[in-house]
Amino acid sequence: MAENKGSMKFVVILTVVVIGLIAAFVVLDNNSNSGENDTVSSGGDAPAIDGQPTIGESDAPVEIVEFGDYLCPACKVWSDQAFPLVKQDYIDTGDVNFTYINVLFHGEDSELASSAGEAVYKQDSEAFWDFSKALYEAQPEEHQEGWLTKEKIIEVAEESVPSIDTEKMNEDMDSEEIQQEVGKDDNLVKEHGVQVTPTIMINGEMVEDPFNYEEISTKIEKAIEESNE
Ligand code: CA
Repeated sequence: MAENKGSMKFVVILTVVVIGLIAAFVVLDNNSNSGENDTVSSGGDAPAIDGQPTIGESDAPVEIVEFGDYLCPACKVWSDQAFPLVKQDYIDTGDVNFTYINVLFHGEDSELASSAGEAVYKQDSEAFWDFSKALYEAQPEEHQEGWLTKEKIIEVAEESVPSIDTEKMNEDMDSEEIQQEVGKDDNLVKEHGVQVTPTIMINGEMVEDPFNYEEISTKIEKAIEESNE
């Protein structure tokens, strides 16, 4: 009898241990599942925008990223025509936050322009947008080789951001810190397979034709709806 009692006790303990293990696995399993869901719902393909110039509400339901190049004529047109519409219709309303990432498709000139944008952003994150707009405006309508010089950049910075410290900007542009920021953008370009400029991504989804405002607004509306579900 004593032996039976002992083995009964053993069975009870074993059962408790097994149930405990099963419960632990279920918890672990749930955790890993919810982890996956989180990644999917927040747009697994959306570029990382930390440390990048972003305009709009930080908790806006929709995230737009522009991959642009100050040397690209199509980007000039997009900046001049499409961006103001997106800003007025969706950024100013709190539905969208908008991030700009540099693309270096035009070699050294692109690098120079990008480092200028990064240097302005470093001094005054809000002023970046005025400078960026002004630098696109400074791009000649007709193709003109060699228009972008450091002197031109400083002139544009002084006009668009009167409070800028141009001496510091000049130094920053050549600094390792700013070169790293430019390199970070270049890595994002490669990581996300950006092949044309401008490339516009809405919650990680690439817009097929950035000059079709209907496509842009349809995708934004859809993303807003999905965020309400
Ligand atoms: Ca950047």
